[in-house]
Order: sequence, then C-alpha cells, then structure tokens
Amino acid sequence: MIEENVRRILAELPSGVTLVAAAKTRTPDEILRAIAAGITIIGENYVQEAREAFAAIGSKAKWHFIGHLQKNKVKHAVEIFDVIETVDSMELAERIERACVARGRTMRVLIEVNSGREPQKAGVLPEEAEDLLREVSTLEHVSVQGLMTMGPRFGDPEQARPYFKETRDLFVRLGQEKLPNVEMKILSMGMSNTYNIAIEEGANMVRIGTKLFGAREYKK
Ligand SMILES: *Cc1c(COP(=O)(O)O)cnc(C)c1O
Repeated sequence: MIEENVRRILAELPSGVTLVAAAKTRTPDEILRAIAAGITIIGENYVQEAREAFAAIGSKAKWHFIGHLQKNKVKHAVEIFDVIETVDSMELAERIERACVARGRTMRVLIEVNSGREPQKAGVLPEEAEDLLREVSTLEHVSVQGLMTMGPRFGDPEQARPYFKETRDLFVRLGQEKLPNVEMKILSMGMSNTYNIAIEEGANMVRIGTKLFGAREYKK
C-alpha cells in the first residue's frame, strides 16, 4: 500500500518537483517502506520522534524539519536535519546559528510564511518576510534556500490557491533582491489535498503524508 502510493505519486509529479514524505506518527518500518519505494526526503514535525526514526534509518534519506521548532530542541535538530523548513524568527535563526557553530556545520533553512495571516499559526507575516530574510542573511552558518507555507485549511482545496499564489509572488520578489547568503530556489507548499494546486502555483517541493501512508491516528 505505502509502496504503491509512493510509486504512483512519484510518477505523477512533474519533473522538478521534489517530494517530502511527511512522516509524523509513522513508525520507522513504515518510513523504510517508503524509502524502499523511492522516497529520498523524510519530513518530521517532532524532534523526539525524529530522533527515534533517525536512530533506525540514519542517512538512508535526507531529513527535513517541518514542525514548530522549540528553542530547547534546536541542538538536537542540528544533529539530525539537512533542512529546517520552518524558520520564522530571528531568535530561532540565531539559536540555529549558535548550535551550528558548536557542531561545525551550516544549516540550510526555509523561511516559513504565514500566508493566511492566521494569528494562531506559525510563520512570519508576508509583509515582514523581507526584513526577517535580511536579518537571517547576516548569519554565517544559516543558509536560506527558499520559502515554505502551510496556508489555511479548507474543505475545498481550491480555496488555498490565493495563499499559494501570494507566497509564490513573495518568493519571486525576494529572489530578485539577490541577498548575500540567500538562494531563493525552494518553494515548499502543498499537502495531500492541495499539492496539485500548489504545483500549479509554482511549488517545487510538496510535503505529503496521508496520501503516502494512509490516514493518521492522532496520538498528539
Ligand atoms: C502533516 C504535514 C504535512 C502533510 O499533511 P497530509 O495532509 O497528511 O499530507 C505537510 N506539511 C506539514 C508541515 C505537516 O505538518
């Protein structure tokens, strides 16, 4: 089932679009099945869960952090992840910088944009993204690679389109700034019910969980 889902979605994605398997609540065994079928990037929302999966799977895949990163988990995150997709404040970026200095590495990150301007949601507001990007670009061990957005959840995926469009416009505009230490090349948006629309609006990375692994039983 997982294997079939992975192969089908990989086959249907246009070339140039990278698939991240969103693996929250999935067991290392399920993740390994997805990798065997062709998944190369695992997305994790919780550092503790990621550490367990990473201990079993290690570098058989790349690891992207896609959840809300708590400040006290940054040190562990820097031990595991290849990309942190959810940087939304200078304070968080500075903590990543310090942890990277201690570990002698650079972290690639995306700036998470709160495209729906939802008060309870993570992400920098679109109008504040440029200022944040300029600040983060001063950090030597943090390399910005693009933008990520969730967008509001709707019953009808079509309603997500304007939020993807706005994030894409921001992505293009910020890319034209040519800031040092910043490459605007990854635009991560779209989940199981919205990835086709996100791709139409310019996403080149999609994060899919349910359509690969089946429905989640919520543990958290
Ligand atoms: C869970 C999750 C996804 C995938 O959601 P599905 O609807 O299961 O495809 C994508 N991105 C983030 C940030 C998530 O937390």
